[in-house]
Amino acid sequence: MNRSEMWARVEGHPEGWDMVVVGGGATGVGVAIDAAARGYEVLLIEQSDFGKGTSSRSTKLAHGGVRYLEQGNIGLVMEALKERGLLLQNAPHLVRDLAFVVPNYDWWEAPFYGIGLKLYELLAGKYGFGSSRILSREETLQHLPTLKTEGLRGGAVYYDGQFDDARLLIHMAATAFEQGAALLNYVEATGLTKDAQGFVNGVHARDVETGHEFYAAAKVVINATGAFSDRLRLMAEPSAGAMIVPSQGIHLVFDSAFLAGESAIMVPHTSDGRVLFAIPWNGHTLVGTTDTPVQAATLEPVAMEEEIDFILATAGQYLSHAPRREDVLSVFAGIRPLVRATNTASTAALARDHVIHIDRSGLVSVMGGKWTTYRHMAEDCVDQAATLAQLPERPCVTHHLHIHGFHSDAKQLGALRAYGSDAYEIRKLIESDASLGEALHPALPYVKAEVVWAARNEMARSVEDVLARRTRALFLNARAALEMAPAVAELMGAELGWNEGMKAGQIAAFRAVGAKYCLG
Ligand SMILES: Cc1cc2nc3c(=O)[nH]c(=O)nc-3n(C[C@H](O)[C@H](O)[C@H](O)COP(=O)(O)OP(=O)(O)OC[C@H]3O[C@@H](n4cnc5c(N)ncnc54)[C@H](O)[C@@H]3O)c2cc1C
Repeated sequence: MNRSEMWARVEGHPEGWDMVVVGGGATGVGVAIDAAARGYEVLLIEQSDFGKGTSSRSTKLAHGGVRYLEQGNIGLVMEALKERGLLLQNAPHLVRDLAFVVPNYDWWEAPFYGIGLKLYELLAGKYGFGSSRILSREETLQHLPTLKTEGLRGGAVYYDGQFDDARLLIHMAATAFEQGAALLNYVEATGLTKDAQGFVNGVHARDVETGHEFYAAAKVVINATGAFSDRLRLMAEPSAGAMIVPSQGIHLVFDSAFLAGESAIMVPHTSDGRVLFAIPWNGHTLVGTTDTPVQAATLEPVAMEEEIDFILATAGQYLSHAPRREDVLSVFAGIRPLVRATNTASTAALARDHVIHIDRSGLVSVMGGKWTTYRHMAEDCVDQAATLAQLPERPCVTHHLHIHGFHSDAKQLGALRAYGSDAYEIRKLIESDASLGEALHPALPYVKAEVVWAARNEMARSVEDVLARRTRALFLNARAALEMAPAVAELMGAELGWNEGMKAGQIAAFRAVGAKYCLG
């Protein structure tokens, strides 16, 4: 997967496309896979890097959502549990099951959560991940050795899925590419065109790297711009009313010692009635999230002080060694693309299902939903878009479509597990040049070959792409990532032909972004 091959595909389509997808997050890339696998001609454009929006900033859980069960949204939970199961089948190198423990400090909690979690398990049916059960106090502490013991009665354990969101997304982009789609990062949709009847029939686009402008004609345009969806809808219809209610969620990342063991903590009711997770992730502890209404979506949202305080205080109620501000290795924020359903002030009560909205202009917007349900959202969206565009009817084939790098025993690949079968290619790079096996930083597991691989085969275009989304350095340990930037610029510069000025510019740009992930 590389940019020149993508441009060659674009130049090979002067007559236009069946579908142009705007937005390269989980939703858009999912649509590109689905449409290309059915045999439609698809172009996807992303204004920044794949996953720069919300899709690299999630809690990284492939889950049904225990909270939605409590809200009585059984349909949503069942759908997500099925998708969780399909994701594990189709991308076993990228998804793993994880034990979640709900610690109990009151007598009524064990039977209450025990029954709820049994129902959650039953709803998964043949897509189940593992048996939930009530735990004694000792068993709870075996799962969570660093849990606060004061007043602890026991717990309940259940199983859900965990994945690395940005890495899954890159493998999904490669899957779409293999199915015939053209996908371009750093290409922004700047306008939409309409035919004589007023139907959207193409996209004006700009290559952000070169300023080159081009036009892509389309039988149907799909708006998969997440929290930015209303902007594209306004390009199609200046009178379009807002549908997105943006809500911010943040995570804090700490050393793995704060959450010893292999299990995660799930707190079903925080002091403000939300769910909080503390999860082992890539050798660190990930804690989140919040749900704070914000005025507008931005590409690089910043955590608010009250969100940071809230997570620190809540984590401190459950962890024997309460994390402090100075223990935070990285802080990151993302914006939920919630869809306005009713007149409600609380974002926690807004629709979490996906919505496919067709404007009068024929622009198809696919909004909301969850990472976990991206495949189902894509199927639904392509079904409707193909009908609208009067494309020949072709059934969805993604239920059992393997994601790029599929490997049924990826554990044996060690630190390169998430690359799946690509790990062998990365190892070959190291065999041909032993220096590429060197670590980029003592605090993180990444080696130089991963940078070369990302520049050659994963369309990484900047130091930030490598440190934030091809590796997860910035999300795991922001200061370490800042220290890695010069070495990454050197390696990328050799691949992409950067001169000294360009390398310096890349490092400076990364420092500006990276500073937002450090707590002062
Ligand atoms: C804090 C948090 C935690 C979450 N945790 C989970 C979880 O654990 N599990 C789960 O299933 N879900 C989770 N979610 C939900 C999930 O992350 C989102 O539903 C999903 O990532 C949304 O993907 P998207 O593709 O719709 O949006 P995005 O990922 O935001 O993608 C939209 C893209 O459109 C691009 N774009 C915008 N305008 C243009 C333009 N004019 N031209 C070209 N491109 C454009 C943007 O740059 C962006 O990359 C979480 C969400 C948040 C906020």
